[in-house]
Amino acid sequence: MSAYCVPVLMYHHVSPTAGIITTTPANFESQIAGLARHGYHALSAAEFAGFLAGQPVPDKSVMITFDDGYLDNWVYAHPVLKKYGMQASLFLITGILGEGPVRPVHGESLELPPIAGHMQAKSMLAAGTTDPVMLRWSEVLAMREAGTFEFHSHTHTHTRWDLLAATREAALEHMRQELSDSRATLQERLGSVSEHFCWPQGYFDSEYIALAQAAGFKYLHTTIAHNQNLAGNDPACIYRFAVRNRRFSWLWQRTWLAAHPVIGPIYNRWKSWKRAKRAKA
Ligand SMILES: [Zn+2]
Repeated sequence: MSAYCVPVLMYHHVSPTAGIITTTPANFESQIAGLARHGYHALSAAEFAGFLAGQPVPDKSVMITFDDGYLDNWVYAHPVLKKYGMQASLFLITGILGEGPVRPVHGESLELPPIAGHMQAKSMLAAGTTDPVMLRWSEVLAMREAGTFEFHSHTHTHTRWDLLAATREAALEHMRQELSDSRATLQERLGSVSEHFCWPQGYFDSEYIALAQAAGFKYLHTTIAHNQNLAGNDPACIYRFAVRNRRFSWLWQRTWLAAHPVIGPIYNRWKSWKRAKRAKA
């Protein structure tokens, strides 16, 4: 039986340094081990695209995604994915990855690089200090080689041009440049560019969608959580939910709710209603 709905999971950091949008290595291992133990298949981006187009995928399927491309994804998430034979898709900010050799990963008997918490990472990036925070291209290639991660575009600089540019025309021109630079970088570093793309901070509008599609991106990943990814859905709007820093039991329940043909839509309507009510208050 093919899956009715494929939940897409969204992660940012996997790190022992506490912070927002951060999952501890212990909880991440609990989640990935739990998915593996319960027979979940982690789809590649191409398999997920096939599912949207109507091709069958295993009944219990998820897509695991990471945003931005932090060093901790290599140090802490990669060894866990490798251990359990699971794969994830990582949306890279292609303009701020570093050069140099791969750094030690968790599980090796080497001293691990220090990992900044999310807010510290943000201020380091704002000050132009990227290497201690972000992946290096050598690590990207090593993860691709190991089959733990595949890589897609998350723009070149992760800038919210809709907020920063002086005019609407300037914002669109900047965005066009971001898409083009990101494609060129992935092509040069990895030898190919996929059709999957993820919006910085989840922001998009109809003109942005048109730009991304014109640049060759067909599968557009959002941060809209409360809707279902079903066969036949518009690939320009892929729903993802943020995975909480909790044990597998939480993720199991959340995934089951997200995918259920009857309860899923009721749960999503209830969550959307609650969110709208909160926004009004
Ligand atoms: Zn991002």
